[in-house]
Amino acid sequence: MRKPVIAGNWKMYKTLAEAKDFVEQLKEKQVDSNKIETVICAPALFLNSLVQVAKDSFISIGAQTMHEEKEGAFTGEVSGNQLQDLGVQYVVIGHSERRQYFNETDESVNKKVKAAFENNLTPIICVGETLEQREQNETESIVSTQVMAALEGLSEENVKNSIIAYEPIWAIGTGKTATADDANDVCQAIRETVLDGFGEEVSSSVRIQYGGSVKPENIEELLSKEHIDGALVGGASLQVDSFVKLLEAGQ
Ligand code: PGA
Repeated sequence: MRKPVIAGNWKMYKTLAEAKDFVEQLKEKQVDSNKIETVICAPALFLNSLVQVAKDSFISIGAQTMHEEKEGAFTGEVSGNQLQDLGVQYVVIGHSERRQYFNETDESVNKKVKAAFENNLTPIICVGETLEQREQNETESIVSTQVMAALEGLSEENVKNSIIAYEPIWAIGTGKTATADDANDVCQAIRETVLDGFGEEVSSSVRIQYGGSVKPENIEELLSKEHIDGALVGGASLQVDSFVKLLEAGQ
């Protein structure tokens, strides 16, 4: 059985006080960590404080990106080694906003995924098609190519422990969600890609999230689908009330 994982992606929102207040409030809620994994992916400069606030709770803290090198002259960047040192446990890699605005490529995503595992971080690897690609019926081939590139050269064990987030770009922050059936179809195609590359045991274990305008109103249907094992959530992760509703639906 795959445990669902709900990850909030706060992007470049919140002040430190707001971020701490959110986690303080969230950790008082009744959430069964045996049934659901809860991750908050916060701006890098809040990670240190949030790891302390979330200590001994059901909440794990994740970063939104990282550099693939352990250290070096990379002004403004943060390494996996530095994240691990703080007690961060997850890292989003290859979010479409990183690919679009910060020149991340399938190749750099692959390097970052490898570096994440070297630093005991669980990567949440984002893939997804543009509206134009969807209209040209290229979704599955685009997404499969992204998945294969991201996982290239990884051990079976590491692929098993990866989280893949299917996020159609046209559904991110737009209020447009893929239908649960469409999302499930693409998540199934991703699982088949993993099956081809890494075999049955790995493909049946790897967790695949859906992301793109996930909210309390659509989470239950999405999570009811066979191949959807959780959600990567932007907008609806910014308020405790709506985020808790997502967690409740997943339990
Ligand atoms: P959204 O963002 O939930 O606001 O659409 C999802 C994401 O970018 O991960």
